[in-house]
Amino acid sequence: MKKKNSGPDAPAAAGLFGEALPPAPAKKDGLLAFSYSKMSLYEECPLKYKFKYLDKIKEEPKFYFAFGSAIHSALEFLYSVKNPPFPTIEEVCEAFRAEWNSKSYLEKGYRTQAKSDDDYQKGLLMLKAYYEHNRARFAPPFLVEYSTDVEVDGLLVRTISDRIEHLGGGEITIIDYKTGKDVKRQPAQLYMYQKITELDPRLKEKIAETYGTRVSSVRIRELLYYHVPTNKEYTFERADDKEIGSFWERVLGVAENIRGLKFEPTPGDRQCGWCDYKSLCPVFFAGAQPAPQLRLPASDSVEVLVDRYGRLKERMDEIQAQLDEVAADIARSARDGAEYSGSQYTARISKRGKWEFKDRDAVINVLNQFDLYKDALTLTLTGITNVLENPGLPDEARKKLLELAVKKTATDIKVLKKEGLI
Ligand code: SF4
Repeated sequence: MKKKNSGPDAPAAAGLFGEALPPAPAKKDGLLAFSYSKMSLYEECPLKYKFKYLDKIKEEPKFYFAFGSAIHSALEFLYSVKNPPFPTIEEVCEAFRAEWNSKSYLEKGYRTQAKSDDDYQKGLLMLKAYYEHNRARFAPPFLVEYSTDVEVDGLLVRTISDRIEHLGGGEITIIDYKTGKDVKRQPAQLYMYQKITELDPRLKEKIAETYGTRVSSVRIRELLYYHVPTNKEYTFERADDKEIGSFWERVLGVAENIRGLKFEPTPGDRQCGWCDYKSLCPVFFAGAQPAPQLRLPASDSVEVLVDRYGRLKERMDEIQAQLDEVAADIARSARDGAEYSGSQYTARISKRGKWEFKDRDAVINVLNQFDLYKDALTLTLTGITNVLENPGLPDEARKKLLELAVKKTATDIKVLKKEGLI
């Protein structure tokens, strides 16, 4: 079950460089680009949504997506015929092979070539079984891989349907291929298809173009999940107006939160277990794990300790300010590699170049462009500098990062008390 963590102690969703959050994601005409998958990601964890869609940090490739996508491509090829004959099974397998070989096993998200090869063979068997199971009823479909963007209530909602069949009179069935282990009913996905498809003005035109008949409206009769690994079909009836109404309230609530830049993390075993952004997430790297309980001496109440802590902190801040000032004076006058000796201390000085980056979005763009964000690990200055100083960095990426960097000098002062190290 999802564990909420949005109370006062929840880690804030700060920008990667500690600056203000970027503006809400919106198209230039003010519409918010939306989809079922965006909504489900936001509901899983708003911060994950931000990393993916606002910061545009790529996730690691997942082998199960690569597998599903290659099967979808092959079925799209199979059904992309206006008139029979349909492609042969050899041609369908060739379409699968072409898609499969367009990426290496690592790019597909497999750890080994052997596992990738296993899944390739599994995919071929799956397609052959599908072909045999369905060949007697092959018929040119109404639409295949139909993608549409519909404007509604300030949103631009995208749906992509694997296949749509027209049953006559504007009634349609949407077929969604599933390639995972099992099929789970996803009511939100069903509702999204129904709401958006029935509002889509292009569908009426497509029916007129394809069948030469005009319809006054389009209505979903049912939605079918086709489980390719088992050739089983799961049919779901259209939802009633009340279900769609309350689903749509939920959509608008999510959209409002996105526009309001509400991106607090909602950690939980399920969503964090598969999250690629752990190294960037304050829940994991800012020590937000529950602190062990302290045993207080009986005489010191928390109030007394709070005062003592405050006083020490004040003194430490004063001393730190003085330390910074003296260090800056030494840095200005001392030479790199030199050693200086006072009456009680000696100090060895070393100077080194360091980089500073001001434009956060531009740095993220370069890291994404060259698929380097994971090498930066935390997207802190040290992380980016490590990327920049990696000898294997492509020249073009180095050039772009250097254009965004300012070189400064950092001075390290190693101090030794004359009778020992402090
Ligand atoms: S690690 Fe967990 S809390 Fe952090 S962004 Fe990912 S899902 Fe959200």
